[in-house]
Amino acid sequence: MAQLIDGKAVAARVRAEVKAEVEKLKAEHGLVPGLTVVRVGEDPASKIYVTGKKKAAEEVGFNSWELHPDDKITQDELLSLVDKLNKDPAVHGVLVQLPLPKHIDAERIISAVRPEKDVDGFHPMNAGMLSVGKPAPRPCTPFGVMRLLKEVGCDPSGKRAVVVGRSNIVGKPMALMLLAADATVTVCHRKSNLAAEVANADILVAAVGVPELIKGEWIKPGAVVIDVGMNRMPDGKLKGDVEFEKAKERASFITPVPGGVGPMTIAMLMRNTLEAAKATL
Ligand code: NAD
Repeated sequence: MAQLIDGKAVAARVRAEVKAEVEKLKAEHGLVPGLTVVRVGEDPASKIYVTGKKKAAEEVGFNSWELHPDDKITQDELLSLVDKLNKDPAVHGVLVQLPLPKHIDAERIISAVRPEKDVDGFHPMNAGMLSVGKPAPRPCTPFGVMRLLKEVGCDPSGKRAVVVGRSNIVGKPMALMLLAADATVTVCHRKSNLAAEVANADILVAAVGVPELIKGEWIKPGAVVIDVGMNRMPDGKLKGDVEFEKAKERASFITPVPGGVGPMTIAMLMRNTLEAAKATL
């Protein structure tokens, strides 16, 4: 029977570490990290995420601001808002919450954020920095997964890691981070033979968005299973991408949904914002 990985507890630890560093920064340099989140329109999920980000930012002692233009904002107006934040020295992190309304080209907006302030780690420059192994803000969700692995004493070096999903914000950066940690990495997508690939995984990361796509019986006995999926079911409950009840019979460690990877994403955003502020010293 697998041990549960308590993402809530690890995320609280990460926030406490950030808070301690913020206090030191304030005392020694008079510097307070600043995070601005831009939320366009009324997407209900975005509202929940942004509230969580603001709450965490206040808890760790950042200055935090939320800008909330309505969904009529034009692309040019949003670009000039981002430009203003890029130039504001009190703002170290700029995060434009996705999704954006259809008339706005999200890639243009992401690329308009100064890479040093791109605390989501989505800017193509930062994606490139990750792929060449140079320091830069890392996408928060896979960055959080790496921390969870560390917490349970799972060193990816020499292990077979299988990542299911190849999105730019989770799957691909996840694969690159595991590769940088010397895992042998396989990335799966719709054309992959999932059952065969998953059966080889010492470390499995599921980031698909299909409830219980990964069957428990596919899991290699003793594997570490990280479920990034957050699928809202008709009864309102959240379900992961992994068949949890059966997978936990075979895995050594497994993340629950909710309470696994979810809380880590915001915690790592705090870490990225702190690092962005420190880099200005
Ligand atoms: P996405 O839709 O951008 O990407 C999904 C990926 O899964 C794609 O690369 C696609 O090729 C692959 N895929 C889809 N169906 C598949 C199938 N049947 N077989 C194999 N591969 C398949 O999604 P995303 O943004 O990467 O998010 C994935 C999941 O993670 C979602 O449930 C999302 O809600 C969740 N998520 C959670 C957090 C968090 O903080 N915990 C953060 C981001 C995303």
